[in-house]
Amino acid sequence: MRYLVISDIHANLIAFETVLQDSKDKYDKIWCLGDVVGYGPHPNECVELLSCHDHLCLAGNHDWAVINRLNVDDFNPNAKFAVLWTREIMTTENLDYLAGLPDEPIEQESHFTLVHASPRHPIWEYVLYPRIAQLNFAHFQTNYCFVGHTHSPIVFVESQIYDTMCDAIIPTTERYLQELDVQRLIINPGSVGQPRDGDPRASYGILDTDKMEFEIRRVEYNVTEVQDIMKQYNFPPRLWSRLKFGF
Ligand SMILES: [Zn+2]
Repeated sequence: MRYLVISDIHANLIAFETVLQDSKDKYDKIWCLGDVVGYGPHPNECVELLSCHDHLCLAGNHDWAVINRLNVDDFNPNAKFAVLWTREIMTTENLDYLAGLPDEPIEQESHFTLVHASPRHPIWEYVLYPRIAQLNFAHFQTNYCFVGHTHSPIVFVESQIYDTMCDAIIPTTERYLQELDVQRLIINPGSVGQPRDGDPRASYGILDTDKMEFEIRRVEYNVTEVQDIMKQYNFPPRLWSRLKFGF
């Protein structure tokens, strides 16, 4: 089987459509690690487009905030604006979709654990650094764990030596191929709709379970078009300006 592994679409329909176009015919099913909505101008359209596909989707913190399962006061002012705006514009049917998303790590295909944030704190913890990643290897059973939430593509390799730090590989090329062999890994495919690693291109992954390979890919999308739509809705400047820089 081949899977399109995506995370943090964040209501950026143009980025999501570009990723689907770029990965066309390269996957059989979608695994989405959450935060389908929040930040961007097209929450309904993103939920509906994802729903058109054979997929599995987890709940993210923004999905939860929009359905009132998290206190919006825990968000920064710009994120809070987006949550409140999204609540108003989403249809009841699409809000019900978000409410039905699983919030615990899910094991798939024997080898893979999927979670939005981290295995030990599925909704909130940011796995940004080797120290946090190393602690999290004890919190899942499979060889590989896919996480989102940080919006930055990265591969953490578990250290086999007691009390030493794991390695981190940061992909810097348009395509990065990771063999899935004996080492246990925590893998973040990056964000479709709001990358934060200084590269504005949408980020996503393709998993091939026959070859046991995972490829992280980047694709350029029309950022200006998204920004223009966000300006029309009077989104705070920081929410649309950041898309150009990938932060
Ligand atoms: Zn997110």
